[in-house]
Amino acid sequence: MTPPSAPSPRISPAARRLVAGAAALATAVSAGLVTALPAQADQATPAVVDSTVHDGRYLSLTFDDGPDPVSTPALLAVLKKHHVKAAFCLWGDHVQQHPEVVRQIAADGHRLCNHTMHHNDMADWDADAIRQDLEQTSAAIRAAVPGARIDYFRAPYGSWGRTPEVAAELGMQPLGWRLTVGDWAPPGTAELVRRIEEGVTPGAVVLLHDGGGDRSQTVEAVDQVIPRLQAEGWRFDKPARRG
Ligand SMILES: [Zn+2]
Repeated sequence: MTPPSAPSPRISPAARRLVAGAAALATAVSAGLVTALPAQADQATPAVVDSTVHDGRYLSLTFDDGPDPVSTPALLAVLKKHHVKAAFCLWGDHVQQHPEVVRQIAADGHRLCNHTMHHNDMADWDADAIRQDLEQTSAAIRAAVPGARIDYFRAPYGSWGRTPEVAAELGMQPLGWRLTVGDWAPPGTAELVRRIEEGVTPGAVVLLHDGGGDRSQTVEAVDQVIPRLQAEGWRFDKPARRG
């Protein structure tokens, strides 16, 4: 955008204000105060993101392998109690088994992440096979929640292979993590709280699990650690897009 030329003395005050407004907008754009078109700003890239949108004492909670008919509703109640939004990386088979839980996740305003149909290790898969699986998974999510927005993709086991490029083509940002605490073991609620509190770093995406086994310790740990982190000045944010 080029700045408009100086208004001629003959144009009306209203038109002059319009020109001044356009000039101010042009200045703001060139100063980086206004980002590019929203559609562009929201585009996915093949970069695997592991950080929050904002810098500083922010973290993002992400939950894998659900939905689970017991752990996920319990977790949703905990998140609602503390007014925290998270991202849920959904396993397609589980989505088809418990679509009502996916609807609850979406209704509560959490973000959705495609975690493949059958939780396969895709390290050696070609792009076509990956695309077929990811599209099937997204279709399963949208069968549960019509028109659902699916912002992210996470590869099972962190075996990214060629998945980041395919996910980006399908409009999903590959979602990595900076902290994981072995909640699949599980090591005990107090130990999970300790690992999260001691391991979190500014801007970290934290990986936890609400599916794939008994996740009651994870749910309890999240319930305990959120107020502790908030008291230490931490705030909850969504994972970045575009890397
Ligand atoms: Zn997983």
